[in-house]
Amino acid sequence: MQKEMFALQKEIPETGLKLKKVPVPSIKPREVLIKVTAAGICGTDLHIYNWDKWSENRIKPPLIAGHEFVGRIVEIGSEVTGIRLGMRVSAEGHIICGHCQFCRTGQGHICQDVQIIGVDRDGCFAEYLAMPFENLWPVPDAIPDNHAAIFDPLGNAMHTVMSFPVAGKSVLVMGAGAIGLFTIPILKTVGASPVIVVEPNEYRRSLAKKCNADIVLNPMEDDIKAVVAENTQGLGVEVLLEMSGNGKAIDQAFDCLRNGGCAAMLGIPSSPIQLDLAKHVIFKAADIKGINGRRMYDTWYQCQSFLLRKNIKIDDLITHTFDFKDFEMAFKLLNDGKAAKIILTFGE
Ligand code: NAD
Ligand code: ZN
Repeated sequence: MQKEMFALQKEIPETGLKLKKVPVPSIKPREVLIKVTAAGICGTDLHIYNWDKWSENRIKPPLIAGHEFVGRIVEIGSEVTGIRLGMRVSAEGHIICGHCQFCRTGQGHICQDVQIIGVDRDGCFAEYLAMPFENLWPVPDAIPDNHAAIFDPLGNAMHTVMSFPVAGKSVLVMGAGAIGLFTIPILKTVGASPVIVVEPNEYRRSLAKKCNADIVLNPMEDDIKAVVAENTQGLGVEVLLEMSGNGKAIDQAFDCLRNGGCAAMLGIPSSPIQLDLAKHVIFKAADIKGINGRRMYDTWYQCQSFLLRKNIKIDDLITHTFDFKDFEMAFKLLNDGKAAKIILTFGE
């Protein structure tokens, strides 16, 4: 077993990541060592790369970034059960305490003592990664590596879609970044109609069309409220999936929500925003739900059954694949808004 590995590390508090040689992590009794095969780049990694305000407050360098991955088990801790060497696994990147009130009542996704890989402890942009075995998700052979690597963001999309009944309902997807885009094939599969997507970036609007969204709108040009009204008998959408985190978009989205509508909020505004509670929520009798991470492990089962379906339309959303040593190109494309999901590969 080699003692050193390459990793993409935030070495000091400044913009960028560095390709560094670092020690291969040693594992605790309830952990496994995973040889990473492929990893997805998430918006959070971009925040960390760009060293924005959120990162400055949250990240304590040195830290290896990355939390979406697939790999193979190469070493097993002495107290681990049910896991074999060579198993192909992804994993839930939120490591929960297991004993707070939330963890004990099936709500681990809101554990009050959560640690996130690639955020609070070393992540998967590395040749090897140590993970608690409870977090592992063994991946069926029928799911290819590039799909297995993105259980995590697909899970954010799945969790948001599944938070309210959507079958046969009009749904507005506000913001078509990678996660907003992933909601589209899920919504189409579960029978939402019409699926209306709002996104300012032209490249991402074209991807939304490729996923067969029914109506794709540009908030800079289109009269969103009028088009929504035309397509919902003048009532507004029944369900809003807020995936932009943009204050103006959130206000516009609530303006398109009908009385009695449901809003699932995933997008994270970078600072506090204003919302007209009386108009948008109280008098409408709207239901609002915050969405954090993935439900453990309901969301993972739902994602797996989705990924095992024939002909799911997610390959168009995996827009690029790079060797991890070429990460600078990947982050540039993401910063330029010219990519959706990018996969980094780490060799076999
Ligand atoms: P992203 O930044 O790629 O996507 C956001 C999209 O919103 C972009 O495509 C952007 O062009 C679009 N947008 C900007 N202004 C808009 C407007 N006025 N109207 C409509 N769309 C607009 O991020 P992502 O990785 O797809 O994640 C989506 C959001 O969810 C982000 O805010 C992210 O921080 C957040 N997030 C939340 C969780 C959670 O657990 N709650 C997990 C992951 C990500
Ligand atoms: Zn807990």
